Amino acid sequence: MSFTFESQASRVVFGEGCFAQLAHEIERLEASRVMLISTPGRSSLAERARELIGTSVVETFDRAVVHVPQETATLARNRARETNADVLVALGGGSSIGVAKAIALTSSLPIIAVPTTYGGSEMTPIWGLTDEGIKLTGRNARAQPRVVIYDPDLTLSLPPRTTACSGLNAIAHCIEAMYAADANPLTTSAARAGLSLLSSALPRLHAAPQDRDQRSTALRGAWLAGYALGTVQMALHHKLCHTLGGAFNLPHAETHAVLLPYTAAYNRNAASAAMRLAAETLGVEDAPTELMSIARTIDAPASLREIGMHEQDLERAASLAIDRVYPNPAPVTFEGIRVLLAAAYIGDAEYVTSFD
Ligand code: NAD
Repeated sequence: MSFTFESQASRVVFGEGCFAQLAHEIERLEASRVMLISTPGRSSLAERARELIGTSVVETFDRAVVHVPQETATLARNRARETNADVLVALGGGSSIGVAKAIALTSSLPIIAVPTTYGGSEMTPIWGLTDEGIKLTGRNARAQPRVVIYDPDLTLSLPPRTTACSGLNAIAHCIEAMYAADANPLTTSAARAGLSLLSSALPRLHAAPQDRDQRSTALRGAWLAGYALGTVQMALHHKLCHTLGGAFNLPHAETHAVLLPYTAAYNRNAASAAMRLAAETLGVEDAPTELMSIARTIDAPASLREIGMHEQDLERAASLAIDRVYPNPAPVTFEGIRVLLAAAYIGDAEYVTSFD
């Protein structure tokens, strides 16, 4: 085994009610001009943040949208500059955090992330911007949040479908981290622990969304999954999700939820050691089959058709997915991806159980 490991520099504050420490964390960064960032749906959380930190809020930007369109990034960057903000507080999921990252990329402002989904962006230096239907992503230390405040109480309001899809998005980070080309013992341990916590919490949360212990378990899993995502290279699964999200405007977490069993099956043999580890962690014989079973149990969407993909776009999606070379255990071919997408389009369970 050989690997290169670079530690991420972020401070993580975890615990029920720890959102109350926001003002303290801002002070620790010696900041005093706060720009709050949320999606329109999370503006009530921005209001709570404003109550906690008072007059130091210089801007409340509540227009974050998924996949960070270039226009949104430009608007947000202008507001940060015009208000002379010295810290960005991103409240919500990857959409809010993504806007904060877009600002930080060009300004170097520090980010405090307060995640309320399981998406994991808060733990990564990965940024994403969408311009004319193409989603560009990259890694830059400026985009890495300096502080992450994980308060499971803020996830109690997550609707069941978002809980399910976002949780599967986090599980996808774990699965791809396990077969990552640059995996190391620390990321593999984090990915295994994340997979174990999330796969146990998600079905329980489906039955009882207000269970605070399970919310805490799932968020711990999301933290570990995000850590793995931020540290090693993702492969086919993430590439496909970004392609479909950027080019066809499919919802991010839902796309992850649908595709995960299919991409896992595609890599089943080529990444056999990682898949055995995943199966062992899940306590089953076959990881892709179990991932599909979890997704069905928690009522995640089962097909690309269901989340707005059009059949006539499948070929173009397959072409876009192979336009750049990236590491993946199984060779990525146009025909292979076309067949995978066609199966995921209709929710073909047989592909998942028997793809060889
Ligand atoms: P999101 O931020 O788009 O949120 C989904 C919806 O849930 C939004 O309408 C939001 O208002 C709502 N919501 C969020 N938290 C809630 C809560 N606690 N209660 C009720 N409603 C709530 O979803 P996401 O899946 O976290 O983020 C998707 C975006 O993040 C995509 O653009 C994706 O590419 C990006 N992302 C980036 C990374 C990275 O490392 N750069 C990682 C994961 C996701």
